[in-house]
Amino acid sequence: MCIFCKIIEGEIPSTTIYEDDVVKCILDLSQAGVGHTLVIPKKHYANVLEIDSDTFGYAMKIAQKIAKALKKTFNCDGVNILNNCGEAAGQTVFHLHIHVIPRFFNDTVDVKWVDNSSKFDPKNFEELKNKIVANL
Ligand code: AMP
Ligand code: ZN
Repeated sequence: MCIFCKIIEGEIPSTTIYEDDVVKCILDLSQAGVGHTLVIPKKHYANVLEIDSDTFGYAMKIAQKIAKALKKTFNCDGVNILNNCGEAAGQTVFHLHIHVIPRFFNDTVDVKWVDNSSKFDPKNFEELKNKIVANL
């Protein structure tokens, strides 16, 4: 059983913010920012590519609910709602979860990427778009 399945079963302790039949929301042990919460579907899905869209949609709805509660609680300047899908994307626990992280100006949270706009000619976007659209 994976670590989040064990948390959901109550075999590993966690601090639950919210729970219903579909999801359990717990405080992340690493607390990237104070209040950092994980929204975890109770059923095991490895990642976003495996979960059904209804359950993922519901989990995102709860992530929004958590984000609003964090805003109210900490009066943060912003919130990141994010998911790491796959090891290359930074996923370390392979049971889907959504991070909800309160953000403040000048905090220490780092979810940045570099601006590559100088390397990509927007003239090629049509071709790029067509490749993606073919797989929708
Ligand atoms: P990710 O890298 O997106 O897979 O995120 C995994 C997250 O799970 C990390 O932020 C960890 O701090 C968190 N985590 C791992 N084990 C536990 C645990 N037992 N309780 C709460 N959070 C955990
Ligand atoms: Zn699991």
